[in-house]
Amino acid sequence: MKITYYQWVQYAISKLKSNGIEESDSEPIMILAYLSGLSKGKVLQKSYHRIPTRLRKKASRIISKRIKSRKPLAYILGIWDFYGLEFDINKCVMIPRPETELLVNLVLSKLGNDPLIGLDIGTGAGNIAISLLNNRPKWRIIGTDESISILKLAKCNAEKHDVLDRFFPICCNLMDCISKVDFIVSNPPYIPSNEIKNLSQEVQCEPLVALDGGKNGIETIKRIYDQFIDSKAKFLAFEFGYGQANQIRSMTHNEAKILNDYKNIPRIAVIKH
Ligand code: GLN
Repeated sequence: MKITYYQWVQYAISKLKSNGIEESDSEPIMILAYLSGLSKGKVLQKSYHRIPTRLRKKASRIISKRIKSRKPLAYILGIWDFYGLEFDINKCVMIPRPETELLVNLVLSKLGNDPLIGLDIGTGAGNIAISLLNNRPKWRIIGTDESISILKLAKCNAEKHDVLDRFFPICCNLMDCISKVDFIVSNPPYIPSNEIKNLSQEVQCEPLVALDGGKNGIETIKRIYDQFIDSKAKFLAFEFGYGQANQIRSMTHNEAKILNDYKNIPRIAVIKH
């Protein structure tokens, strides 16, 4: 069968859609990039070239696996892009989201180039900490999480991006074991417990501890905020969930500056001491 990259992508998108997987238009390109070892841009440049049969068959097998398992593509491929870097991912960690790239952007724009020690609470794959370190050669960042296997993955990612000498994974709850840092960043779990069951099948594949923010969704955020207040850190930035802006405002006595995401939904809070 002689078809072009473009035609295969169209076919794959319609197959995903007809099987109830919406909002996945970018997945076929990601699969082709992963299999051919090219960037997404390079794959797009090949749109009107004929797709090699072996590549097409392998890519179609991944599409079938995606449809059958309803697992997120990131878990099937074992890698995911975040802030221009590729991270190793497994089902123990949450999949990095584009909204969280805004959090990274914001921290970079608010804090300069001077040497600083940061803390990334709930580091997961290490995507926030490593993206920050990649852009700030004088920073050092502690990444906390509650499982050794998660921290091992974060460490692998730090090594992959050459920042291992400045990334310090520590196994503890939030910042219980950390004494002095200059800034704190976190993408904490913030989905209200009773809303978890309404999330898509894909999101429900992600670790519950990374999603579940307790009864009102901001239980972990509140604990992070309290620990920040008691700490010597001067800057806190974190992500929060849909509809939580007012709760965040009152929790911080209106001290939080709130920023919207690409969909214009309030998403990030910054508090300075
Ligand atoms: N820090 C990781 C991320 O932002 C994981 C966050 C989490 O597990 N809630 O993607």
